[in-house]
Amino acid sequence: MQPIKEPGFRQSVDLMFNRAVALMDLPPGLEEKIRVCNATYTVRFGVRLRGQIQTFTGYRSVHSEHMEPVKGGIRYALSVNQNEVEALAALMTYKCALVEAPFGGSKGGLCIDPREWDDHELEQITRRFAYELIKRDMINPAQNVPAPDMGTGEREMAWIADQYARMNTTDINSRACVTGKPLNAGGIAGRVEATGRGVQYALQEFFREPEDKKKAGLTGTLDGKRIIVQGLGNVGYHAALFLSTEDGARITGIIERDGALFNPDGLDVQAVHEWIVGHGGVTGFPDGQYVADGASVMEEECDILIPAAMEGVLNLDNAERIQAPLIVEAANGPITAGADEILRRKGAVIIPDLFANAGGVTVSYFEWVKNLGHIRFGRMQRRQEEARHQLIVDELERLSADSGVGWQLSPGFKQKYLRGAGELELVRSGLDDTMRTAYQSMRAVWHGRDDVGDLRTAAYLVAIDRVASSYRAKGL
Ligand code: NAD
Repeated sequence: MQPIKEPGFRQSVDLMFNRAVALMDLPPGLEEKIRVCNATYTVRFGVRLRGQIQTFTGYRSVHSEHMEPVKGGIRYALSVNQNEVEALAALMTYKCALVEAPFGGSKGGLCIDPREWDDHELEQITRRFAYELIKRDMINPAQNVPAPDMGTGEREMAWIADQYARMNTTDINSRACVTGKPLNAGGIAGRVEATGRGVQYALQEFFREPEDKKKAGLTGTLDGKRIIVQGLGNVGYHAALFLSTEDGARITGIIERDGALFNPDGLDVQAVHEWIVGHGGVTGFPDGQYVADGASVMEEECDILIPAAMEGVLNLDNAERIQAPLIVEAANGPITAGADEILRRKGAVIIPDLFANAGGVTVSYFEWVKNLGHIRFGRMQRRQEEARHQLIVDELERLSADSGVGWQLSPGFKQKYLRGAGELELVRSGLDDTMRTAYQSMRAVWHGRDDVGDLRTAAYLVAIDRVASSYRAKGL
C-alpha cells in the first residue's frame, strides 16, 4: 500500500481553507481570489562580514490586500522558504479578519540561524534586509507593516524602524512602519507578552463555556489542569507563565530543542526560562525529569497540549498517540491537515492557530494606532478617571460618617478602584475583549451549524466571509 503523503504547510493551510469554503456559497472565482497569495518577493543580498561577502535569501509575501496595510511578522530561521512564508501570510489574512484587525495578510522571512551571528552582525544583516524591502514599499506604515516572529524580537524591530526613518526622513508616521518595537522606540506596553497573554485569554474564554469543556471531556476551571508546552520562547514562555502563576494550571511538561522536562507536580516556568537563558537549553535543569527525545513528551497524558514552537510538529507520525483532549495551537500551523483529521476523529478539541495566537497581531494593531495617534493610551484620561473615582469614594466616606453607620471601604478595594487605567491595563482590556469576541463568533458557527464539527472550520468560515465581504464592497 502507498504510504499516505503528509501535505506541506502551504498545502495544509489550503486544505483547511478548502474544507471551509466547500460549506460556503461564494460567487464563482472569488474563492480562488481569496485563496491565492497575491505576490511573493524574493531578495538575495550580500553583506560584507568576517572578511567576505555573505549572501542571504529573504522573502516578503503578500497574501491579500483586501485591507491595507498588510500585516505579518518576519521570521529568522534556516527552515524559511517560499512555501512557508506564503502559508504564514495566508494565515495572517484569516487571523486579522477573525479578530477584526483592519489589515490584509503578509509575512516575511530570512534564511538564517540568528544564533550563528553576533549582535553587530545581525544588525547589519537586518538593516540591509530592511533596506531591500523599504525601497520597494514592502515596509511602509500605509502599505506593509511587519512584526516579530520566530527568531526575531524587539531589537530587530527597532533596527527596522530606525532604518525606515533614515530612508524616509520627512515621514511623520515612520514609527508605524513596524510593530513589536521596544517602548522607548515607539512600542506599546504589553506587546512582548501579547501572544502568550492571548493564549491565556483564549483558554479562559473556552473554560467559561460548560458545553465546550464537555466536548473535550473537561470540567471545572483552569486551576490544577495539567499542561504540556512545546517551545519556551516568546509565545510559549508567556502563555505557560500566566497560566501557571495566575490561573493555577500545572505545567507538567516543557519541550525544547535539546529535549524535554517532565514533572507531574508542575514545573516552575520562570526557573526553567532562566535556566534556558543561562545554559542554552533545558538539559541539566534540576527540578524535573529530563527526556532526551523531547517530542515524545507531547504524547504524555495531560489536559491541555500547547504546541508553541513551530509548524508540522503534530503530524501523521504521532497524531494517533496524542492523548491530550484539548490542543491549543499557540504556534502557527503546528498540526498538519492529516493530523488534524486524525485528532478530530479521536475527539480532541483543537483551538486553532488563527484564533489562539492572534494576541500578537491584536496588540500590534494597538501599537500601530498609537504610532499614528502619536500619544500613549491613557495619557489624557487616566488622572481624570482617578479624580472622578475619588469623588465617589469621598462621598461614600462622608455619607458613612454623617449617618453614624461607620462603614469603611476596604483598603484593597479603595486602592484598586481609585487607580485609573494606564496603557498596560488598556492594552490587556482590549486584548481580552478581542479574544472573547472572536471566540464567540467562532463558537456561534461551531454550535449553530450541523455541518461544522470543529472550531477551525468555524474560524475559517467567519474569516473568509469577512474577507469576501471586503472584496464585494470593493466591487470585485
Ligand atoms: P521564539 O523564537 O521566541 O521561540 C520559539 C521557541 O521554540 C524557542 O524557545 C525554540 O528553542 C523552541 N523550538 C524551536 N524548534 C523547536 C523544536 N523542534 N522543538 C521544541 N522547541 C523548539 O518564537 P515565538 O515568537 O515564540 O514563535 C513561536 C511560534 O508562535 C511560531 O510558530 C510563530 O509563528 C508563532 N507566533 C508568534 C507570534 C509572536 O508575537 N512572536 C505571534 C503569533 C504567532
